[in-house]
Amino acid sequence: MIVRICGTRWKVLERTESELEKICGKKVEGACIPHLETIYINSELPEHRKAVAFTHEAIHAVCDYIGLMQKSEWIAESLGPALYDLISDFPEKYRRS
Ligand SMILES: [Zn+2]
Repeated sequence: MIVRICGTRWKVLERTESELEKICGKKVEGACIPHLETIYINSELPEHRKAVAFTHEAIHAVCDYIGLMQKSEWIAESLGPALYDLISDFPEKYRRS
C-alpha cells in the first residue's frame, strides 16, 4: 500500500514479528524508516491494532517532515490514540470527497 504523508508517497509494508525484529533490533508493532519512506506494520496484529500502529508510525513520518524526530516518540504516543479514535469513530468526516 502507498499512502501520502505531507506530500510524500510512503510505502506501508506488513512484516512478521520476527522480520520486524531483524529490521529494528527489538520487538515492535510497527516502524517508520524515513530515509526509505517506508512504514512497517506487524502482520501478526489484529486489524484494529494494525490501524493503531499505522497511526503511530504515520505520526513519526509527520514528525520527520517537520523536523521533530527527537520528540516524535512522545508526540506519537500522545496523539496516536486520540487520532485513531477520531478517525475510526467519524470516518465519514475524514473521507476525501
Ligand atoms: Zn514510536
